[in-house]
Amino acid sequence: MSGIVTQEGVAAWLRAFAEAVAKNREYLTELDAAIGDADHGSNMDRGMQAVVGRIDGPSAGTAGGGVGALLKLVGMTLVSTVGGAAGPLYGTFFLQVGKAAGEATELTLAQWAAALEAGVKGVQMRGKAVLEDKTMVDTLMPAAQALSAAAASGAGLAEALRQAAAAAEQGMKATIPLIARKGRASYLGERSAGHQDPGATSSWLLLQTAAETLAAGAPAEVPGA
Ligand code: ADP
Ligand code: MG
Repeated sequence: MSGIVTQEGVAAWLRAFAEAVAKNREYLTELDAAIGDADHGSNMDRGMQAVVGRIDGPSAGTAGGGVGALLKLVGMTLVSTVGGAAGPLYGTFFLQVGKAAGEATELTLAQWAAALEAGVKGVQMRGKAVLEDKTMVDTLMPAAQALSAAAASGAGLAEALRQAAAAAEQGMKATIPLIARKGRASYLGERSAGHQDPGATSSWLLLQTAAETLAAGAPAEVPGA
């Protein structure tokens, strides 16, 4: 048994991400002040508070809808409540992960990794960013790839999520020296170098909280089983 991603686990992840965004609201805004318009923290906080309100609200109705319905609700909420570049991009990410996850209430690590890859593809289709454009893609793409690689090598869920979070952190830090080629920061040209990308940073929080929550409700991993 290598562990499964459950609907409860996904809901716990979303709550933890919302909490991490709220805690880091000022930090994300400071990063955006340096190379953007100082609204990434407030954008993401507004969106994730709305998400928590929807998934835990009286009309949530996600209990029977599976992981896909839950994540599509998240995507639609972000698209409708977050302005700027990040809203539609994170919205697309969750919509595509949800579409790939489908109606299942539990996903294997390999299925979860494939769903995340679909989410990253969605972000790239929408925003046209490639690796090293200094965006959230620099965090999301290596993380999804690390998750798939871990799944393919037979790693357990907790270990795979740790590897994905480590790849995310590395990708985030790697944005510091880059010159932005997409989004508002690209208007700064060379002056965008030397600053960590705000979207890459919120995406790291997303992968970090996944490692902290997604494996928690899964059946225990039996070494060598
Ligand atoms: P805005 O730039 O409209 O103010 P935010 O400040 O909320 O929106 O989000 C900025 C972040 O969005 C950037 O740090 C970057 O990571 C991400 N971003 C911007 N444009 C793109 C794009 N085309 N593809 C992927 N990510 C992007
Ligand atoms: Mg901004």
